[in-house]
Amino acid sequence: MSNQRRPLIAGNWKMNGLAAAAATELKALVAEAKNHSAPNCDILICPPATLVREMAAVTSDSAVEIGGQDCHGNESGAHTGDISAEMLKDAGASYCIVGHSERRADHDESNATVKAKAEAAHRGGLIAIVCVGETLAEREADKTLEVISDQVKNSLPSGATAANTVIAYEPVWAIGTGKTSTPDDVAAVHAHIRKELGSLLDDSDKMRILYGGSVKGSNAEELMAVENVDGALVGGASLKAVDFWPIVATSI
Ligand code: PEP
Repeated sequence: MSNQRRPLIAGNWKMNGLAAAAATELKALVAEAKNHSAPNCDILICPPATLVREMAAVTSDSAVEIGGQDCHGNESGAHTGDISAEMLKDAGASYCIVGHSERRADHDESNATVKAKAEAAHRGGLIAIVCVGETLAEREADKTLEVISDQVKNSLPSGATAANTVIAYEPVWAIGTGKTSTPDDVAAVHAHIRKELGSLLDDSDKMRILYGGSVKGSNAEELMAVENVDGALVGGASLKAVDFWPIVATSI
């Protein structure tokens, strides 16, 4: 972990969470965070859109921030079922995940769509977390770095800076499977992303690159110690405070 980049430990609740149980878990997380008057990392939970406002109220006087899991490219209009970045901001979010592999796969989101969503996140005043990652077939065909380059170059929003954008490297085969990349593999991909960013941005050294894919309490310390890993994007292990806090604790 570089000293110049403040780690971000982010939880993605995906399509999980009903109000009462979610508030109980989040209150437990907030209580842990409050034991640290000046945490050395940013802590984020991205609940389903239905819970953004309520969860933002739970975290309001704490170091825990709230984000969306996706946003539409437009500010408003005839897009049934979609949510804009402005709406997320209005509900209390400060970040938005875009281009998660589940959305790229389930909703056919292209790099161009992801880029437009990241730009929309900025327009709405949110920090965009842009996800990239290779499938198992791409890894086995030795195409990992090629795929990552393509996604970084073409999903990165215009006007991206280290302050308004975070990259999350999430190998698709490691998400929700219990499999994680080895620290050496993570180091190689993160170094590659850092190099790509160097050719695209002025402040590339300052941009945070998260690792995601079956991060849990038992492997977080090893993964967070890898060079160019500036935090984690966590799915399953973010749902319960008792599982998520040990991951946060590696960076606090
Ligand atoms: C994710 O959804 O971004 C993720 C990394 O999930 P998990 O931690 O469950 O693999």
